[in-house]
Amino acid sequence: MAQSNTAVVKTEPQSDSLNPRTHGYEFFGPPGATAVSIGVPFLTYALFFGCNEKTGCPPSFELAKLNVQANLTNLDWWASLWDTQAALIYLGWYAFCVAAWFVLPGDWVEGTTMRNGQKKKYKINAFSTFLLAMGGTAGYITRYGPSSFTFLYERFAGFATAALLMSFVQACYVYWSSYQSGALLALGGNSGNVIYDWYIGRELNPSIGSFDIKSFNELRPGLILWALIDISMACEQATRLGGWPTASMLLVCTFQIFYVVDGLYNEPAILTTMDITTDGFGFMLSVGDLLWVPFVYSLQARYLAFHPTQLGPAGVAGVLATNALGYYIFRAANGEKNDFRNGRNPKNLQFFTTESGSKLLTSGWWGFLRHPNYLGDLIMAFSWSLPTGFNTPITYFYFVYFFVLLVHRDSRDDHNCHVKYGKDWVKYKKIVPYTIVPYVY
Ligand code: NDP
Repeated sequence: MAQSNTAVVKTEPQSDSLNPRTHGYEFFGPPGATAVSIGVPFLTYALFFGCNEKTGCPPSFELAKLNVQANLTNLDWWASLWDTQAALIYLGWYAFCVAAWFVLPGDWVEGTTMRNGQKKKYKINAFSTFLLAMGGTAGYITRYGPSSFTFLYERFAGFATAALLMSFVQACYVYWSSYQSGALLALGGNSGNVIYDWYIGRELNPSIGSFDIKSFNELRPGLILWALIDISMACEQATRLGGWPTASMLLVCTFQIFYVVDGLYNEPAILTTMDITTDGFGFMLSVGDLLWVPFVYSLQARYLAFHPTQLGPAGVAGVLATNALGYYIFRAANGEKNDFRNGRNPKNLQFFTTESGSKLLTSGWWGFLRHPNYLGDLIMAFSWSLPTGFNTPITYFYFVYFFVLLVHRDSRDDHNCHVKYGKDWVKYKKIVPYTIVPYVY
Protein backbone atom coordinates (compact mmCIF):
# COMPACT_ATOMS: atom_id res chain seq x y z
CA MET A 1 0.00 0.00 0.00
CA ALA A 2 1.25 3.41 -0.83
CA GLN A 3 2.06 5.53 2.22
CA SER A 4 1.66 9.08 1.13
CA ASN A 5 -0.64 11.91 1.82
CA THR A 6 -0.56 13.38 -1.63
CA ALA A 7 -3.04 12.25 -4.21
CA VAL A 8 -2.66 12.55 -7.95
CA VAL A 9 -4.94 15.41 -8.79
CA LYS A 10 -5.75 16.98 -12.08
CA THR A 11 -2.70 18.84 -13.20
CA GLU A 12 -2.86 19.48 -16.90
CA PRO A 13 -6.04 20.18 -18.82
CA GLN A 14 -6.84 17.03 -20.78
CA SER A 15 -6.72 17.13 -24.55
CA ASP A 16 -9.77 16.55 -26.74
CA SER A 17 -8.40 13.18 -27.81
CA LEU A 18 -8.44 12.05 -24.17
CA ASN A 19 -11.90 13.49 -23.67
CA PRO A 20 -13.78 12.52 -26.83
CA ARG A 21 -17.44 13.38 -27.37
CA THR A 22 -19.82 10.70 -26.13
CA HIS A 23 -21.77 9.12 -28.96
CA GLY A 24 -24.65 6.91 -27.92
CA TYR A 25 -26.74 7.16 -24.80
CA GLU A 26 -27.55 4.81 -21.94
CA PHE A 27 -30.79 4.97 -19.92
CA PHE A 28 -32.71 5.95 -23.10
CA GLY A 29 -30.85 9.25 -23.33
CA PRO A 30 -32.02 12.61 -21.94
CA PRO A 31 -35.71 11.56 -21.56
CA GLY A 32 -34.61 8.49 -19.59
CA ALA A 33 -32.17 10.53 -17.49
CA THR A 34 -34.96 13.03 -16.72
CA ALA A 35 -37.37 10.23 -15.83
CA VAL A 36 -34.91 8.56 -13.44
CA SER A 37 -33.93 11.91 -11.88
CA ILE A 38 -37.57 12.60 -11.05
CA GLY A 39 -38.52 8.97 -10.46
CA VAL A 40 -35.91 8.15 -7.80
CA PRO A 41 -36.96 10.93 -5.35
CA PHE A 42 -40.63 10.33 -6.19
CA LEU A 43 -40.35 6.62 -5.43
CA THR A 44 -38.43 7.27 -2.21
CA TYR A 45 -41.26 9.49 -0.94
CA ALA A 46 -43.92 7.14 -2.35
CA LEU A 47 -42.46 4.23 -0.39
CA PHE A 48 -42.60 6.36 2.74
CA PHE A 49 -46.09 7.77 2.26
CA GLY A 50 -47.35 4.45 0.89
CA CYS A 51 -46.00 2.44 3.81
CA ASN A 52 -46.32 4.02 7.22
CA GLU A 53 -48.25 3.72 10.39
CA LYS A 54 -50.92 6.29 9.53
CA THR A 55 -51.86 5.21 6.03
CA GLY A 56 -51.04 1.49 6.25
CA CYS A 57 -48.65 -0.54 4.15
CA PRO A 58 -49.88 -0.39 1.48
CA PRO A 59 -52.92 1.83 2.04
CA SER A 60 -56.16 0.57 0.54
CA PHE A 61 -56.76 1.75 -3.01
CA GLU A 62 -59.58 4.09 -1.91
CA LEU A 63 -57.49 5.57 0.91
CA ALA A 64 -54.49 6.03 -1.39
CA LYS A 65 -56.70 7.83 -3.94
CA LEU A 66 -58.16 10.11 -1.26
CA ASN A 67 -54.71 10.81 0.16
CA VAL A 68 -53.23 11.72 -3.18
CA GLN A 69 -56.17 14.00 -4.02
CA ALA A 70 -56.07 15.68 -0.60
CA ASN A 71 -52.31 16.07 -0.37
CA LEU A 72 -51.71 17.54 -3.79
CA THR A 73 -53.75 20.58 -2.84
CA ASN A 74 -52.80 20.64 0.84
CA LEU A 75 -50.05 23.16 1.59
CA ASP A 76 -49.46 21.70 5.07
CA TRP A 77 -48.65 18.37 3.51
CA TRP A 78 -46.13 19.94 1.13
CA ALA A 79 -44.63 21.87 4.05
CA SER A 80 -44.26 18.59 5.98
CA LEU A 81 -41.61 17.53 3.46
CA TRP A 82 -39.32 20.23 4.84
CA ASP A 83 -37.97 19.97 8.39
CA THR A 84 -35.40 22.60 9.35
CA GLN A 85 -34.15 20.72 12.37
CA ALA A 86 -33.69 17.52 10.37
CA ALA A 87 -31.88 19.48 7.66
CA LEU A 88 -29.47 20.96 10.21
CA ILE A 89 -28.80 17.57 11.80
CA TYR A 90 -28.21 16.12 8.32
CA LEU A 91 -25.77 18.90 7.53
CA GLY A 92 -23.99 18.17 10.81
CA TRP A 93 -23.83 14.48 9.89
CA TYR A 94 -22.35 15.26 6.49
CA ALA A 95 -19.82 17.63 8.07
CA PHE A 96 -18.87 14.92 10.58
CA CYS A 97 -18.13 12.49 7.71
CA VAL A 98 -15.99 15.07 5.90
CA ALA A 99 -14.12 15.95 9.11
CA ALA A 100 -13.54 12.25 9.84
CA TRP A 101 -12.10 11.80 6.35
CA PHE A 102 -9.57 14.54 7.05
CA VAL A 103 -8.77 13.75 10.67
CA LEU A 104 -8.81 9.97 10.95
CA PRO A 105 -5.64 8.26 9.79
CA GLY A 106 -5.76 5.94 6.79
CA ASP A 107 -3.56 4.38 4.13
CA TRP A 108 -3.42 6.02 0.71
CA VAL A 109 -4.14 3.37 -1.89
CA GLU A 110 -3.71 3.67 -5.65
CA GLY A 111 -6.69 3.12 -7.92
CA THR A 112 -6.49 1.54 -11.37
CA THR A 113 -4.55 3.23 -14.16
CA MET A 114 -6.70 5.84 -15.83
CA ARG A 115 -6.65 6.43 -19.57
CA ASN A 116 -4.32 9.44 -19.12
CA GLY A 117 -1.78 7.00 -17.64
CA GLN A 118 -2.10 8.37 -14.12
CA LYS A 119 -3.25 6.62 -10.97
CA LYS A 120 -5.31 8.39 -8.37
CA LYS A 121 -4.75 7.81 -4.68
CA TYR A 122 -7.59 7.33 -2.24
CA LYS A 123 -7.59 7.68 1.54
CA ILE A 124 -8.90 4.51 3.16
CA ASN A 125 -10.65 5.36 6.42
CA ALA A 126 -14.34 4.63 5.83
CA PHE A 127 -14.34 1.81 8.37
CA SER A 128 -12.82 3.95 11.10
CA THR A 129 -15.42 6.64 10.31
CA PHE A 130 -18.07 3.95 10.85
CA LEU A 131 -16.51 2.85 14.15
CA LEU A 132 -16.41 6.43 15.39
CA ALA A 133 -20.05 7.02 14.41
CA MET A 134 -21.17 3.74 15.98
CA GLY A 135 -19.16 4.36 19.15
CA GLY A 136 -20.76 7.79 19.53
CA THR A 137 -24.26 6.40 18.84
CA ALA A 138 -23.83 3.48 21.27
CA GLY A 139 -22.59 5.86 23.97
CA TYR A 140 -25.53 8.22 23.34
CA ILE A 141 -28.14 5.44 23.48
CA THR A 142 -26.58 3.91 26.59
CA ARG A 143 -26.57 7.29 28.32
CA TYR A 144 -30.02 8.56 27.26
CA GLY A 145 -31.93 5.38 26.41
CA PRO A 146 -33.37 4.05 23.12
CA SER A 147 -36.17 6.64 23.09
CA SER A 148 -33.54 9.37 22.60
CA PHE A 149 -32.51 7.90 19.22
CA THR A 150 -35.86 7.63 17.49
CA PHE A 151 -35.63 10.99 15.69
CA LEU A 152 -34.62 9.35 12.39
CA TYR A 153 -37.92 7.44 12.48
CA GLU A 154 -39.95 10.47 13.52
CA ARG A 155 -38.45 12.92 11.05
CA PHE A 156 -37.87 10.46 8.21
CA ALA A 157 -39.34 12.58 5.39
CA GLY A 158 -37.43 15.67 6.56
CA PHE A 159 -34.13 13.82 6.58
CA ALA A 160 -34.87 12.38 3.14
CA THR A 161 -35.50 15.87 1.77
CA ALA A 162 -32.21 17.10 3.25
CA ALA A 163 -30.34 14.21 1.61
CA LEU A 164 -32.10 14.88 -1.70
CA LEU A 165 -31.08 18.53 -1.62
CA MET A 166 -27.49 17.59 -0.78
CA SER A 167 -27.34 15.19 -3.74
CA PHE A 168 -28.89 17.78 -6.08
CA VAL A 169 -26.48 20.53 -5.01
CA GLN A 170 -23.49 18.23 -5.38
CA ALA A 171 -24.55 17.07 -8.85
CA CYS A 172 -24.88 20.71 -9.93
CA TYR A 173 -21.53 21.64 -8.39
CA VAL A 174 -19.57 18.81 -10.05
CA TYR A 175 -21.24 19.49 -13.39
CA TRP A 176 -20.24 23.15 -13.16
CA SER A 177 -16.73 22.36 -11.93
CA SER A 178 -16.15 19.88 -14.77
CA TYR A 179 -16.06 22.89 -17.11
CA GLN A 180 -13.64 24.85 -14.89
CA SER A 181 -10.92 22.28 -14.43
CA GLY A 182 -10.32 20.76 -17.86
CA ALA A 183 -10.06 17.45 -16.03
CA LEU A 184 -10.44 13.89 -17.28
CA LEU A 185 -14.07 13.25 -18.21
CA ALA A 186 -16.06 10.02 -18.08
CA LEU A 187 -16.23 8.49 -21.56
CA GLY A 188 -20.00 8.19 -21.18
CA GLY A 189 -20.63 11.65 -19.75
CA ASN A 190 -19.48 14.06 -22.43
CA SER A 191 -22.45 14.07 -24.79
CA GLY A 192 -22.95 17.83 -24.71
CA ASN A 193 -26.55 17.41 -23.52
CA VAL A 194 -26.82 19.26 -20.20
CA ILE A 195 -29.46 17.05 -18.58
CA TYR A 196 -27.84 13.81 -19.66
CA ASP A 197 -24.29 14.77 -18.64
CA TRP A 198 -25.50 16.24 -15.33
CA TYR A 199 -27.31 12.97 -14.61
CA ILE A 200 -24.73 10.44 -15.78
CA GLY A 201 -21.71 12.40 -14.50
CA ARG A 202 -19.41 14.44 -16.72
CA GLU A 203 -16.15 14.47 -14.79
CA LEU A 204 -14.61 11.10 -13.94
CA ASN A 205 -13.06 12.03 -10.59
CA PRO A 206 -14.28 15.39 -9.31
CA SER A 207 -12.06 16.37 -6.39
CA ILE A 208 -11.28 19.26 -4.10
CA GLY A 209 -7.55 18.96 -3.59
CA SER A 210 -6.92 15.37 -2.54
CA PHE A 211 -10.56 14.93 -1.42
CA ASP A 212 -12.22 12.66 -3.99
CA ILE A 213 -15.93 13.50 -4.02
CA LYS A 214 -17.15 10.32 -5.75
CA SER A 215 -15.47 7.66 -3.59
CA PHE A 216 -16.29 9.67 -0.45
CA ASN A 217 -20.00 9.67 -1.25
CA GLU A 218 -20.01 6.01 -2.30
CA LEU A 219 -19.21 4.69 1.17
CA ARG A 220 -19.55 7.21 3.96
CA PRO A 221 -22.49 9.61 4.40
CA GLY A 222 -25.17 7.35 2.85
CA LEU A 223 -24.01 3.86 3.71
CA ILE A 224 -23.25 4.62 7.37
CA LEU A 225 -26.51 6.57 7.62
CA TRP A 226 -28.35 3.43 6.48
CA ALA A 227 -26.92 1.61 9.54
CA LEU A 228 -27.89 4.53 11.80
CA ILE A 229 -31.45 4.59 10.40
CA ASP A 230 -31.78 0.85 11.10
CA ILE A 231 -30.62 1.44 14.67
CA SER A 232 -33.12 4.26 15.05
CA MET A 233 -35.90 1.94 13.83
CA ALA A 234 -34.85 -0.71 16.36
CA CYS A 235 -34.89 1.98 19.09
CA GLU A 236 -38.38 3.05 18.01
CA GLN A 237 -39.65 -0.51 18.19
CA ALA A 238 -37.92 -1.18 21.54
CA THR A 239 -39.43 2.02 22.97
CA ARG A 240 -42.93 0.99 21.86
CA LEU A 241 -42.53 -2.54 23.20
CA GLY A 242 -40.97 -1.26 26.40
CA GLY A 243 -38.03 -3.64 26.22
CA TRP A 244 -35.94 -5.27 23.53
CA PRO A 245 -36.60 -5.24 19.76
CA THR A 246 -38.08 -8.44 18.29
CA ALA A 247 -35.97 -11.22 16.77
CA SER A 248 -37.11 -10.19 13.28
CA MET A 249 -35.91 -6.60 13.84
CA LEU A 250 -32.60 -7.86 15.22
CA LEU A 251 -32.13 -10.12 12.19
CA VAL A 252 -32.83 -7.33 9.67
CA CYS A 253 -30.51 -4.90 11.48
CA THR A 254 -27.75 -7.47 11.94
CA PHE A 255 -27.81 -8.56 8.27
CA GLN A 256 -27.89 -5.04 6.90
CA ILE A 257 -25.29 -3.60 9.26
CA PHE A 258 -23.05 -6.59 8.55
CA TYR A 259 -23.43 -5.84 4.82
CA VAL A 260 -22.46 -2.21 5.45
CA VAL A 261 -19.46 -3.27 7.58
CA ASP A 262 -18.36 -5.69 4.86
CA GLY A 263 -18.40 -2.90 2.27
CA LEU A 264 -16.61 -0.40 4.51
CA TYR A 265 -14.01 -2.84 5.79
CA ASN A 266 -13.16 -3.83 2.22
CA GLU A 267 -13.06 -0.21 1.07
CA PRO A 268 -10.20 -0.70 -1.47
CA ALA A 269 -12.42 -3.17 -3.35
CA ILE A 270 -14.57 -0.30 -4.67
CA LEU A 271 -11.57 1.11 -6.52
CA THR A 272 -11.99 -1.53 -9.25
CA THR A 273 -15.78 -1.20 -9.56
CA MET A 274 -17.44 0.30 -12.61
CA ASP A 275 -18.65 3.25 -10.50
CA ILE A 276 -15.09 4.34 -9.76
CA THR A 277 -13.21 3.30 -12.90
CA THR A 278 -15.77 4.13 -15.58
CA ASP A 279 -18.75 6.23 -14.47
CA GLY A 280 -18.52 9.93 -13.84
CA PHE A 281 -20.03 11.51 -10.74
CA GLY A 282 -23.43 13.01 -11.47
CA PHE A 283 -26.96 12.97 -10.05
CA MET A 284 -27.27 9.23 -10.80
CA LEU A 285 -24.59 8.41 -8.24
CA SER A 286 -25.16 11.28 -5.80
CA VAL A 287 -28.88 10.58 -5.39
CA GLY A 288 -28.23 6.84 -5.26
CA ASP A 289 -25.54 7.17 -2.60
CA LEU A 290 -27.16 9.83 -0.43
CA LEU A 291 -30.92 9.34 -0.79
CA TRP A 292 -31.80 5.98 -2.25
CA VAL A 293 -29.47 3.71 -0.26
CA PRO A 294 -30.18 4.95 3.28
CA PHE A 295 -33.85 5.88 2.89
CA VAL A 296 -35.08 2.99 0.72
CA TYR A 297 -32.82 0.14 1.86
CA SER A 298 -33.96 0.70 5.47
CA LEU A 299 -37.60 0.03 4.52
CA GLN A 300 -37.82 -3.40 6.19
CA ALA A 301 -36.55 -2.05 9.51
CA ARG A 302 -38.88 0.98 9.26
CA TYR A 303 -41.84 -1.32 8.63
CA LEU A 304 -40.94 -3.49 11.63
CA ALA A 305 -40.68 -0.38 13.83
CA PHE A 306 -44.43 0.21 13.59
CA HIS A 307 -45.48 -3.35 12.70
CA PRO A 308 -43.50 -5.79 14.89
CA THR A 309 -43.47 -9.29 13.45
CA GLN A 310 -42.77 -12.30 15.64
CA LEU A 311 -40.67 -15.15 14.25
CA GLY A 312 -40.61 -18.56 15.91
CA PRO A 313 -37.39 -20.61 16.22
CA ALA A 314 -38.05 -22.30 12.84
CA GLY A 315 -38.56 -18.90 11.18
CA VAL A 316 -35.35 -17.54 12.69
CA ALA A 317 -33.44 -20.65 11.57
CA GLY A 318 -34.89 -20.42 8.04
CA VAL A 319 -33.99 -16.76 7.68
CA LEU A 320 -30.49 -17.33 9.06
CA ALA A 321 -29.92 -20.25 6.68
CA THR A 322 -31.09 -18.22 3.66
CA ASN A 323 -28.76 -15.38 4.56
CA ALA A 324 -25.82 -17.73 5.19
CA LEU A 325 -26.35 -19.41 1.79
CA GLY A 326 -26.41 -16.05 0.01
CA TYR A 327 -23.35 -14.81 1.85
CA TYR A 328 -21.43 -18.02 1.13
CA ILE A 329 -22.09 -17.78 -2.64
CA PHE A 330 -21.36 -14.02 -2.67
CA ARG A 331 -18.02 -14.38 -0.85
CA ALA A 332 -16.89 -17.58 -2.58
CA ALA A 333 -17.60 -16.15 -6.05
CA ASN A 334 -15.99 -12.78 -5.38
CA GLY A 335 -13.04 -14.51 -3.67
CA GLU A 336 -12.39 -16.78 -6.67
CA LYS A 337 -12.36 -13.84 -9.06
CA ASN A 338 -10.29 -11.58 -6.79
CA ASP A 339 -7.69 -14.31 -6.28
CA PHE A 340 -7.58 -15.01 -10.00
CA ARG A 341 -7.29 -11.36 -11.00
CA ASN A 342 -4.44 -10.99 -8.46
CA GLY A 343 -2.46 -13.84 -10.05
CA ARG A 344 -3.53 -16.60 -7.63
CA ASN A 345 -5.49 -19.77 -8.39
CA PRO A 346 -5.55 -21.78 -5.14
CA LYS A 347 -8.39 -24.07 -6.29
CA ASN A 348 -6.70 -24.84 -9.63
CA LEU A 349 -9.73 -23.60 -11.54
CA GLN A 350 -9.84 -23.99 -15.32
CA PHE A 351 -9.55 -20.94 -17.54
CA PHE A 352 -8.66 -19.87 -21.05
CA THR A 353 -6.51 -16.98 -22.24
CA THR A 354 -8.17 -14.39 -24.45
CA GLU A 355 -6.53 -12.64 -27.39
CA SER A 356 -6.16 -9.54 -25.21
CA GLY A 357 -3.92 -11.58 -22.88
CA SER A 358 -6.45 -11.50 -20.03
CA LYS A 359 -7.80 -14.81 -18.72
CA LEU A 360 -11.36 -15.94 -18.07
CA LEU A 361 -12.30 -18.62 -15.54
CA THR A 362 -14.39 -21.51 -16.91
CA SER A 363 -14.81 -23.65 -13.80
CA GLY A 364 -15.77 -23.01 -10.18
CA TRP A 365 -18.45 -20.40 -9.61
CA TRP A 366 -17.53 -18.49 -12.78
CA GLY A 367 -17.90 -21.70 -14.80
CA PHE A 368 -21.41 -22.15 -13.36
CA LEU A 369 -22.81 -18.63 -13.89
CA ARG A 370 -21.52 -15.44 -15.52
CA HIS A 371 -22.45 -13.44 -12.39
CA PRO A 372 -22.52 -15.90 -9.48
CA ASN A 373 -21.85 -13.03 -7.06
CA TYR A 374 -25.13 -11.39 -8.13
CA LEU A 375 -27.00 -14.60 -7.23
CA GLY A 376 -25.48 -14.57 -3.72
CA ASP A 377 -26.32 -10.88 -3.33
CA LEU A 378 -29.93 -11.52 -4.36
CA ILE A 379 -30.41 -14.41 -1.95
CA MET A 380 -29.11 -12.17 0.85
CA ALA A 381 -31.52 -9.42 -0.23
CA PHE A 382 -34.39 -11.91 0.00
CA SER A 383 -33.37 -12.87 3.54
CA TRP A 384 -33.61 -9.20 4.57
CA SER A 385 -37.28 -9.11 3.57
CA LEU A 386 -38.33 -12.50 4.95
CA PRO A 387 -38.33 -11.35 8.62
CA THR A 388 -41.13 -8.89 7.78
CA GLY A 389 -43.45 -11.83 7.04
CA PHE A 390 -45.95 -11.96 4.22
CA ASN A 391 -48.46 -9.27 5.23
CA THR A 392 -47.33 -6.78 2.61
CA PRO A 393 -45.50 -6.96 -0.72
CA ILE A 394 -43.91 -3.54 -0.10
CA THR A 395 -41.12 -4.86 2.12
CA TYR A 396 -40.09 -7.08 -0.82
CA PHE A 397 -39.60 -4.00 -2.97
CA TYR A 398 -35.83 -3.98 -2.39
CA PHE A 399 -35.48 -7.56 -3.62
CA VAL A 400 -37.43 -6.90 -6.83
CA TYR A 401 -35.67 -3.60 -7.47
CA PHE A 402 -32.27 -5.21 -6.84
CA PHE A 403 -33.04 -7.97 -9.32
CA VAL A 404 -33.91 -5.39 -11.99
CA LEU A 405 -30.77 -3.37 -11.14
CA LEU A 406 -28.51 -6.41 -11.42
CA VAL A 407 -30.06 -7.50 -14.73
CA HIS A 408 -29.47 -3.99 -16.07
CA ARG A 409 -25.93 -3.95 -14.64
CA ASP A 410 -25.27 -7.31 -16.27
CA SER A 411 -26.34 -5.93 -19.65
CA ARG A 412 -23.90 -3.01 -19.24
CA ASP A 413 -21.10 -5.36 -18.17
CA ASP A 414 -21.91 -7.77 -21.00
CA HIS A 415 -21.61 -4.91 -23.50
CA ASN A 416 -18.26 -3.82 -21.97
CA CYS A 417 -16.93 -7.39 -22.06
CA HIS A 418 -17.98 -7.75 -25.70
CA VAL A 419 -15.98 -4.62 -26.47
CA LYS A 420 -13.01 -5.86 -24.38
CA TYR A 421 -12.90 -9.52 -25.43
CA GLY A 422 -14.77 -9.75 -28.77
CA LYS A 423 -15.13 -13.34 -29.96
CA ASP A 424 -13.50 -14.67 -26.78
CA TRP A 425 -16.50 -13.32 -24.85
CA VAL A 426 -18.85 -15.12 -27.27
CA LYS A 427 -16.85 -18.30 -26.61
CA TYR A 428 -17.15 -17.79 -22.83
CA LYS A 429 -20.89 -17.24 -23.12
CA LYS A 430 -21.20 -20.56 -24.96
CA ILE A 431 -19.32 -22.34 -22.16
CA VAL A 432 -21.31 -20.54 -19.43
CA PRO A 433 -24.78 -19.82 -20.86
CA TYR A 434 -26.58 -18.62 -17.70
CA THR A 435 -25.98 -15.30 -16.00
CA ILE A 436 -27.67 -15.03 -12.60
CA VAL A 437 -30.31 -17.74 -12.10
CA PRO A 438 -29.12 -21.28 -12.98
CA TYR A 439 -30.97 -22.79 -15.96
CA VAL A 440 -33.38 -19.80 -16.09
CA TYR A 441 -31.51 -16.59 -16.85
P1 NDP B 1 -18.51 -8.38 -11.20
O1 NDP B 1 -17.82 -8.50 -9.88
O2 NDP B 1 -19.39 -9.51 -11.58
O3 NDP B 1 -17.37 -8.19 -12.27
C1 NDP B 1 -17.58 -8.26 -13.66
C2 NDP B 1 -16.21 -8.32 -14.28
O4 NDP B 1 -15.57 -9.56 -13.92
C3 NDP B 1 -16.21 -8.34 -15.80
O5 NDP B 1 -16.30 -7.04 -16.31
C4 NDP B 1 -14.86 -8.95 -16.09
O6 NDP B 1 -13.88 -7.90 -15.93
C5 NDP B 1 -14.67 -9.95 -14.94
N1 NDP B 1 -15.05 -11.30 -15.35
C6 NDP B 1 -16.21 -11.68 -15.95
N2 NDP B 1 -16.22 -13.01 -16.15
C7 NDP B 1 -15.03 -13.47 -15.68
C8 NDP B 1 -14.44 -14.76 -15.63
N3 NDP B 1 -15.06 -15.85 -16.09
N4 NDP B 1 -13.22 -14.88 -15.08
C9 NDP B 1 -12.58 -13.78 -14.59
N5 NDP B 1 -13.07 -12.55 -14.62
C10 NDP B 1 -14.30 -12.40 -15.16
O7 NDP B 1 -19.36 -7.05 -11.35
P2 NDP B 1 -19.75 -5.80 -10.50
O8 NDP B 1 -18.62 -4.85 -10.40
O9 NDP B 1 -21.02 -5.35 -11.13
O10 NDP B 1 -20.12 -6.36 -9.02
C11 NDP B 1 -19.23 -6.39 -7.92
C12 NDP B 1 -19.99 -6.80 -6.66
O11 NDP B 1 -20.81 -5.73 -6.21
C13 NDP B 1 -20.92 -7.99 -6.86
O12 NDP B 1 -20.79 -8.86 -5.79
C14 NDP B 1 -22.30 -7.39 -6.88
O13 NDP B 1 -23.26 -8.31 -6.40
C15 NDP B 1 -22.13 -6.19 -5.97
N6 NDP B 1 -23.05 -5.08 -6.30
C16 NDP B 1 -23.84 -4.61 -5.27
C17 NDP B 1 -24.72 -3.57 -5.50
C18 NDP B 1 -25.60 -3.06 -4.40
O14 NDP B 1 -26.30 -2.06 -4.59
N7 NDP B 1 -25.61 -3.70 -3.26
C19 NDP B 1 -24.83 -2.93 -6.85
C20 NDP B 1 -23.98 -3.52 -7.84
C21 NDP B 1 -23.10 -4.55 -7.56
P3 NDP B 1 -12.31 -8.10 -16.32
O15 NDP B 1 -12.22 -9.26 -17.24
O16 NDP B 1 -11.92 -6.80 -16.91
O17 NDP B 1 -11.62 -8.36 -15.00
